[in-house]
Amino acid sequence: MNYDLLIVGAGPGGIFSAYEALKLNPELKIALFESGNALEKRKCPIDGVKIKSCINCATCGIMNGFGGAGAFSDGKYNITNQFGGTLYEYIGRKNAIDLMNYVDEINTANGGENTKLYSTANTHLKKICMQNDLHLLEASVRHLGTDINYIVLENLYNQLKDKIDIYFNTHIDAVEKLDNGYRLLSKEQAFTGEKCIISTGRSGSKWMGKICDSLGLKTKSNRVDIGVRVELPYAIFSNLTDELYESKIVYRTQKFQDKVRTFCMNPRGVVVSENTNGIVTVNGHSYDDPSLYTENTNFALLVSNHFTEPFKDSNDYGESIARLSNMLGGGVIVQRFGDLIRGQRSTESRITESFVTPTLTATPGDLSLVIPKRQLDDIIEMIYALDKVAPGTANDDTLLYGVEVKFYNLEVDIDEHLETKHKGLFVIGDCSGVTHSLSHASASGVYVARYLYGK
Ligand SMILES: Cc1cc2nc3c(=O)[nH]c(=O)nc-3n(C[C@H](O)[C@H](O)[C@H](O)COP(=O)(O)OP(=O)(O)OC[C@H]3O[C@@H](n4cnc5c(N)ncnc54)[C@H](O)[C@@H]3O)c2cc1C
Repeated sequence: MNYDLLIVGAGPGGIFSAYEALKLNPELKIALFESGNALEKRKCPIDGVKIKSCINCATCGIMNGFGGAGAFSDGKYNITNQFGGTLYEYIGRKNAIDLMNYVDEINTANGGENTKLYSTANTHLKKICMQNDLHLLEASVRHLGTDINYIVLENLYNQLKDKIDIYFNTHIDAVEKLDNGYRLLSKEQAFTGEKCIISTGRSGSKWMGKICDSLGLKTKSNRVDIGVRVELPYAIFSNLTDELYESKIVYRTQKFQDKVRTFCMNPRGVVVSENTNGIVTVNGHSYDDPSLYTENTNFALLVSNHFTEPFKDSNDYGESIARLSNMLGGGVIVQRFGDLIRGQRSTESRITESFVTPTLTATPGDLSLVIPKRQLDDIIEMIYALDKVAPGTANDDTLLYGVEVKFYNLEVDIDEHLETKHKGLFVIGDCSGVTHSLSHASASGVYVARYLYGK
């Protein structure tokens, strides 16, 4: 065997498995494989001037490379079992929270010490939401910000780089089971190891499906979230964001009884485009540094879609809707809420005259041509509901960017140790379908490392 431990994917899941395994046993020979670049070489070519939209780079600077999909994210580490994944179903609620707190300690010891921890505990906003049929989920949120998140990753990388072998630009093509371990194949290279942790995230979701087929691992996929990113003046949402920073609010619509929720809230942040497997969708982030603040706050409104038999590929459904917006808008479409309600498309001049200045250059258009009626009605109903706790949300000039799709990975059949039916092969983080967030993915990495090498 070349290695004691092979780790595929250098996102939070992979990084924290390597970090913890090394801490527990500094003698271990560990290899970490990453199809993207080292942190300092990760770059998205979109500059808003020469390159305005996604040019489908060989590896996406936003999604791939050291730090994974979260490297340029807002760095919101939500410490909660109420959202961000279902890790607690495997390892228990207390254990999951303890591990998320442990990850928080590492982050704050590596550059995040001056960042703020927000909490929904004892907030009066919970009552105000409830009085308006909105439900505020409970969490503590460490907001690192895109800038500090980068510094934390840099520090973690510096601690790992001389102690383990990190292979960048090394896409693992296949995983083979041996009698006494695993073999990873990448082009003409092969690497063997006694144990193997797969943590290939959302961008590795299709790849994970193929690996599961080749290794005979069962999977299921039945959920995708579809919606828009809302952008409005910071002041409108400041009663919520000043106290909680991120508020996860859930609403059940009267018309369809669907659940709509707020997701990824970025006070004074920017809206960004994101490329998943060649499909351009929308996202957002914000900075800790006040000099990078904008006038706006953005957040997603997502409708959860659960499918039943015979339909099996929920991600394909989400991709098809995102493809429609790419077809009509060449990428992301932006529309004023007022235009949507009046049934007219937004135009360049309507957006320019708007009192809200968009932070992303997107194509003015008509989201009702893209998003199915059911989900669009759900979103409109939710905007009016939010208007009651944050008056102004339903203003004419509120901007809606579409589409935002939250793809869920296949759920891989793993046990309470996150181990597959093949002993020594673990699937963690977002590619397992168990986690959908930075803190849950990181915690899953620590958990498996402790299971393998803890006393
Ligand atoms: C723009 C953006 C903002 C976000 N903001 C937040 C936030 O504020 N808070 C939050 O909780 N979550 C956020 N998320 C989600 C969060 O980033 C993910 O939940 C988290 O990164 C998952 O970690 P992971 O290690 O499982 O996978 P990832 O971070 O996706 O890492 C997987 C890594 O594996 C690599 N890989 C894939 N396939 C292969 C292969 N075959 N061989 C080698 N390497 C491979 C990829 O290149 C990638 O670097 C955000 C995501 C995005 C895209």
